[in-house]
Amino acid sequence: MNIFAPDYYKKFKCIADKCRHNCCIGWEIDIDGETLSFYQTQSNIINKISLEDTPHFIQEKNGRCPFLNNRNLCDIIANHGEERLCQICRDHPRFRNFFESRTEIGLGLTCEAAARLILDNDFSLEIIGTDDQPAAQTQEETEFLEFRNGVFKRSPESLSFTLPEIKLNELAKVFKRLERLDPEWDDLLDTLKNRNEDLKDVEFDQPQYAKRLFDYFVFRHLHVCGLDFCVLCTYFVMCLDGDVYENARMFSSEIEYSDQNIETIIEKVLD
Ligand code: SF4
Repeated sequence: MNIFAPDYYKKFKCIADKCRHNCCIGWEIDIDGETLSFYQTQSNIINKISLEDTPHFIQEKNGRCPFLNNRNLCDIIANHGEERLCQICRDHPRFRNFFESRTEIGLGLTCEAAARLILDNDFSLEIIGTDDQPAAQTQEETEFLEFRNGVFKRSPESLSFTLPEIKLNELAKVFKRLERLDPEWDDLLDTLKNRNEDLKDVEFDQPQYAKRLFDYFVFRHLHVCGLDFCVLCTYFVMCLDGDVYENARMFSSEIEYSDQNIETIIEKVLD
């Protein structure tokens, strides 16, 4: 079975202590069984883990992982090596989509180093590996991949007909009612308060970023969330004022990484 990834995938490198939005702050990090077995042999690690429900690191009051030191580096890596990280920490910000005959791996936009790669590179897929489990493509998968190839050839502007009839400030109100991680997201949504143009009528100042964002959303979400969701996400990010990299990163953390928020948007805005 072939493993596909965007061609920028191999360029990813965590910027660690230079990261302004460290992924070890604000997220509850669950620990897989194999890694937990090792942590149970280390008293200085296990006493900072909650074993209730799914085992996870007990965050400090400011939301920091207890092993993130004051130089914003990970003490588990420093003391035990990267191979002792739990699977979520090893994988982040990668995501995987599984099809019958192929696996696709990408970098999530929520990471600022990944966001740079996603927005600075035109999207193109390449094979980055093969495992020894050959599997035939199903008819459904063939049809989906053909459809998706067609979508990759389109611009988001040419698909604006899939957007709902909604004004930008009304859409911002829907987003304000969703669960959130960072109060700064509220401030960003507030900047849309006086924008009463129809979402469909928005024109992009930087269409190259819109296209790369759109391709990212299509690659990650098309098979589950549908084309209208990918177009809506692209339009919403591109409507926000300010730095497109930071807006995209924040949108991803607040919306893309919450199944509940995605569901609400699909139900309340797109259905
Ligand atoms: S968000 Fe990305 S760049 Fe920042 S610490 Fe996490 S993996 Fe590294």
